[in-house]
Amino acid sequence: MSGELEHSDALVLFGASGDLAYKKIFPALQAMVRRCRLDVPVIGVARSGWNLEQFRARARESLEKHGEVDEGTFAKLSGLLRYVDGDYREASTYAALRKELGDAKRPLHYLAIPPSVFPVVVEGLAHASCTDNARVVLEKPFGRDLVSARKLNATLQSVFDESSIFRIDHYLGKGPVQNLAIFRFANTFLEPIWNRHYVDSVQITMAESFGVQGRGAFYEEAGAIRDVVQNHMLQVVSLLAMEPPTTSYHESIRDEQVKVLRALRPLRPEQVVRGQFSGYRREPGVAPASTVETFAALQLQIDSWRWDDVPFYIRVGKCLPMTATEVLVKLKRPPLAQLSPSETNYFRFRLSPDVIIAIGARTKRPGDELISEPTELKVVQQASNDDLEPYERLLGEAMEGDTVLFARQDGVEAAWAAVDPVLGDATPVHSYEPGTWGPAQAAELTAAVGGWREPGSC
Ligand code: NDP
Repeated sequence: MSGELEHSDALVLFGASGDLAYKKIFPALQAMVRRCRLDVPVIGVARSGWNLEQFRARARESLEKHGEVDEGTFAKLSGLLRYVDGDYREASTYAALRKELGDAKRPLHYLAIPPSVFPVVVEGLAHASCTDNARVVLEKPFGRDLVSARKLNATLQSVFDESSIFRIDHYLGKGPVQNLAIFRFANTFLEPIWNRHYVDSVQITMAESFGVQGRGAFYEEAGAIRDVVQNHMLQVVSLLAMEPPTTSYHESIRDEQVKVLRALRPLRPEQVVRGQFSGYRREPGVAPASTVETFAALQLQIDSWRWDDVPFYIRVGKCLPMTATEVLVKLKRPPLAQLSPSETNYFRFRLSPDVIIAIGARTKRPGDELISEPTELKVVQQASNDDLEPYERLLGEAMEGDTVLFARQDGVEAAWAAVDPVLGDATPVHSYEPGTWGPAQAAELTAAVGGWREPGSC
C-alpha cells in the first residue's frame, strides 16, 4: 500500500465487553502484537463498570477460550491496554476518552457494537473532538435495506471522509476469497474463457450444518439474505465477475468490484426461494410464527458485456447436510458429445473449511476403448501458521489506512439495491427438514443447468 498513509496511533475499541470482541478481536490483537503490527494504545470502551485490571483479565480470558495466551506477547498487549468506562449515550464517556487519547493524532475507532448505537457513537465522538484525523471501523450490518444503508452512510460521511471509513465484511479478509482474484488475474489461461462464451453458469453454496446457535433474537432481525447474501456472497460474486483492475491506481480493485454490484439486476420474486428449517420457531428469541428465512437460493443476472445471460446462483442455509463454502464455475460443453458428455469442465473453488482449487476435466479411460472419464486436477492448500485470520488482516489494514479490503459506500448500496425487492415477506418461506438441502422448490431454480451441485461432489 502507498507509503504516504499515516499509521493510526491509537485503537479505540467500542464494544469491548461484547461477544465479537471476546471471540475475535482480542485474538486478532494478540496476533497483531506478535507480528509487530500493533504497538499503540488500545483503549477499550464499555459500560461494565470495569477497571483496567478487569479489562486485562477479560482479554486474557478471551484468549484462553478462543486461541491461546502467548505469555510474552500477551504481556506486551496488556501493556498497551487502556480502559474507559461509560455509557455511549453519555457525553462524559467521550470526555474521558478524549483525555485517554492524549496527543494521539490519528485514532482508529472500532465500533464493534449493535448497529442501533452507530449514530450515537459517531455523534458523541464528533462532539468531543475525537474525530479529527480519525478513522472509523464498522461491523456489519450496514443498514437493513437500501434506505437505512443510505441513512447510515449519510451519518458517517457527515463526520468522516469515505477514505477514513472501514466497513468490515470479514469475507474480504479471508485468504481463499482473495485467492479468487489472484487465481483469475495471475493466470494467463483463464482470461480467454472467463466470459459468457465459455462459462455456462456459476454456483456459490454456503452451507452450515448448524442452526442459529442461541442467536435466535439476532437472527430474527436478519435472516439469510440480510445476514450473508447481501454482503459475503455478493462480495464473492464481485470478485468472480469483475474486470481486471489496473495496477496504476489502488482504488481500481474496488472500482471494478463495485461495477459488478451496480450491474446486478434487482432480484425478482421468481428468482428467489426462501426456506426455514423445521424447529426454528422453537428456538429461544424466535417468534412462534416467524417467517424469517434460514435458507435462501437465488439466481442473479449481471448486466454486463462479459456476463450477459450467464446465471449466477447462490444457495445459503443453516441446518444443511454439511458445513462448506464452495464456488463452481461450470464451462459449456465442448463439441462432439460422444467424447465429452455434458458437465465435464469446471473450476471448483472450495473456500472453507478446507481450501481447494480444482479443475474438472476428462481424460481417456484406461483400456482399449476411446472413451473419456471425468477427473479433477486439484490443489489442496494446507493451513499455515503464516496465514492471517481475517480480523487480524483487516484491523491491520485499517490501522494503516488501506481501505481496499473494506466495503465501499457505493458498493454497499448497490448490493442492497439488488436484494431490496426480495427482502422480508416478498416471497413465501418454505419449510425444510434439518439435514436436507433446503426446500424442494429450490431445485427448480437450477433445473436448466443440471441442478445444484453439492460441495465436493463433482
Ligand atoms: P454484543 O451485544 O455482544 O456487544 C455489544 C457491545 O456494545 C457490548 O460491549 C455492550 O455493552 C456495548 N454497548 C451497547 N450499547 C451500549 C451503550 N449504550 N453504552 C455502552 N456500551 C454499549 O454484540 P456483538 O459483539 O455480538 O456484536 C457487535 C457488532 O459486531 C454488531 O454490529 C454485530 O452485528 C457485529 N458482528 C458480530 C458477530 C459475532 O459473532 N458476535 C459476527 C459478525 C458481526 P454491554 O455488554 O454492557 O451491554
